[in-house]
Amino acid sequence: MENLPSSLQSALSIFLAMAALAALEAAIPLRRLGRAGRAHLAPNLALALVTLGANAGLGGVLLFALARLEGDGFGLLPALALPPLAETAVALLALDLSFYVSHVAMHKLPALWRFHATHHSDPAVDVTTTLRQHPVESVIRVAFAAAVALPLGAGPGAYLVYRSAVSFAGLLEHANLRVPAGLDRALAWLVTWPTFHKVHHARDVRFTDSNYGNLVSWWDRAFGTFTPVDAGRSVAYGLDGFDEPAGQTAAALLLRPFRRQAPVTERMKAASAAS
Ligand SMILES: [Zn+2]
Ligand SMILES: [Zn+2]
Repeated sequence: MENLPSSLQSALSIFLAMAALAALEAAIPLRRLGRAGRAHLAPNLALALVTLGANAGLGGVLLFALARLEGDGFGLLPALALPPLAETAVALLALDLSFYVSHVAMHKLPALWRFHATHHSDPAVDVTTTLRQHPVESVIRVAFAAAVALPLGAGPGAYLVYRSAVSFAGLLEHANLRVPAGLDRALAWLVTWPTFHKVHHARDVRFTDSNYGNLVSWWDRAFGTFTPVDAGRSVAYGLDGFDEPAGQTAAALLLRPFRRQAPVTERMKAASAAS
């Protein structure tokens, strides 16, 4: 595996971790996903390949820029000259905050929501839902990360560590795994898995527009967007307007954001009425 390009190595690691978690899901499922759990496999895996390709290309451009700036000693962090461990911790937290802000923006701005809706349209949430994304969502997330990482002068190493951590946290937060309720509540003080992010996949917008965090749960607690994890054990997954089987293919999901779609504005109205 060490002879493969690094983007291919990380894609393979993600698929291996996905397969391991899928085996664990079969042993200790949070809930039975039934027919929807089988029907989403093909579109989810197809979109995962597209997303990994988009992330590798866009991430590569950002890494190149970060490496150039690191060579020039540009940015806030080099100016502060913190100890290496503190510098990495600040970079990781700043990147996680940028992902939180990009996620909130994707829910609040109709032009961005239409792309993020692809991820929320899955009527069954398990480990294969993780990378069920529209490739434009990768552009949005990398743009927000760049807006923080470049002026901060976060090194390419810190960005790579963050991307790897968020990839594996993503697999854990979508995995259909049952853990004891007490452990679940305790973990929700630190991280976004196992059930914290299930709340976010609810069809009910009062729940969907909460628990936006990617790596740590602290941003939701700090900014008042936290919903206790117990709700995530029984919410109905999916998105109204996306339930027709013809709309659930990978091709339909890739094309839908570019079509006229009244439900986007309807959902925004419902979300503001509920808040
Ligand atoms: Zn979301
Ligand atoms: Zn998700």
